[in-house]
Amino acid sequence: MAALSNPAGQRMTTLIPIKLQGKVKITPENKCSFCQGATCCTYFTHQIDAPRSIEDFDLLLWQIAHANTQVYKDADGWFLLVNNRCLHLQADGRCGIYETRPQVCREHSNDDCEFDGPSGEEDFELFFRDYDALLDYCRRKFKNWDSRLGSPNAKPARPRRSRA
Ligand code: SF4
Ligand code: SF4
Repeated sequence: MAALSNPAGQRMTTLIPIKLQGKVKITPENKCSFCQGATCCTYFTHQIDAPRSIEDFDLLLWQIAHANTQVYKDADGWFLLVNNRCLHLQADGRCGIYETRPQVCREHSNDDCEFDGPSGEEDFELFFRDYDALLDYCRRKFKNWDSRLGSPNAKPARPRRSRA
């Protein structure tokens, strides 16, 4: 999946009609002007440490419990995928702060971006679309997953006293 942001400076100037797309060679320079929706500005990803322990996955469950959040793992590692559009993305698909957009937007490459086709679950080693999908994975990965919380009536363990 492409990283984040819309680098589409060309959007601000020359919009090439979509109907000409079949007759015009798509180049990195004009590609964004053909793009409808600027998908790259409608989400961001954030790399996280690879979860290993029950505690790690428990934390990940809390994160994916938040709206519009998914989790995936690919060759580069584990990522949160937050599907929220940038507040600066205008209705016409242009960047509302183009001249002062963040550096990450400036560095974004449109090479192999969503314009070339949407990412699918087959692009990832692991993909969790929601809380239940991750919970199911946790239960299969850890035999003692459901016992991690103990009894709801159990008293918290007393801290050990240090010996003088
Ligand atoms: S600041 Fe502009 S280029 Fe960057 S993600 Fe938002 S709309 Fe896209
Ligand atoms: S999805 Fe690709 S083509 Fe569309 S605006 Fe973003 S970088 Fe440009």
